[in-house]
Amino acid sequence: MEIIPVGIYGAYPAPGCASACYLVKGESATVVLDMGSGSLSMLQKYINLSEVDAFILSHLHYDHFCDALPLAYYPGKHIIYCPATPSDCFTLLKGSASHDVRVINEGAVVTVGKIRFEFSKTIHPVETYAIRVTENEKSFVYTADAMLSDKLIDFCRGSELILTDCSFPAGTPHMTAEQGAELSEKAGVRIVAIHFSPVYDAGPVLSRLGIPAVKQGEAVKAW
Ligand SMILES: [Zn+2]
Repeated sequence: MEIIPVGIYGAYPAPGCASACYLVKGESATVVLDMGSGSLSMLQKYINLSEVDAFILSHLHYDHFCDALPLAYYPGKHIIYCPATPSDCFTLLKGSASHDVRVINEGAVVTVGKIRFEFSKTIHPVETYAIRVTENEKSFVYTADAMLSDKLIDFCRGSELILTDCSFPAGTPHMTAEQGAELSEKAGVRIVAIHFSPVYDAGPVLSRLGIPAVKQGEAVKAW
């Protein structure tokens, strides 16, 4: 299972980059997790969009969903899974005739090809889901935006890898690097850091804690 980090920024992207977007290439399907700002352009560096089987949006903050809107102009029908709130954003997404929008909720299970996606609500200001991605009995977890919780730790247990939102400073609705390390230790799973702030450099603390940071375009092997 290969994950290509297409957009690695939170909030807004650094120049020439994109906000949250991860291309998941399994044996049986190709799926995109999140479509933050800039990702529609960047994604086409790595794949022909017609080869994407489904788009799954963890939540409807702009840095995770806004490029799913102009996706409407790309030829074909696009299957998009997302939460139904905030309702104004959801209504915009649903409004396009080329979008086949399907709602996800707590405990939902979605299958694309032979890849299974499970959802667990995180602590974040809007309805947000961590996503567990399983193929051939092996899993990785994309935490999406999340504060640390026992529920998240439980959701990650037994997986091979966690893509962790742990690159923001304390006092935000994200994990710090220290909390990312705690998640890794308590779940017993290795992590890589994602979702970098364009104005705060988490690099030094991630390095000190031995947490690798994803790099744009550099494929991550989940297993
Ligand atoms: Zn968010």
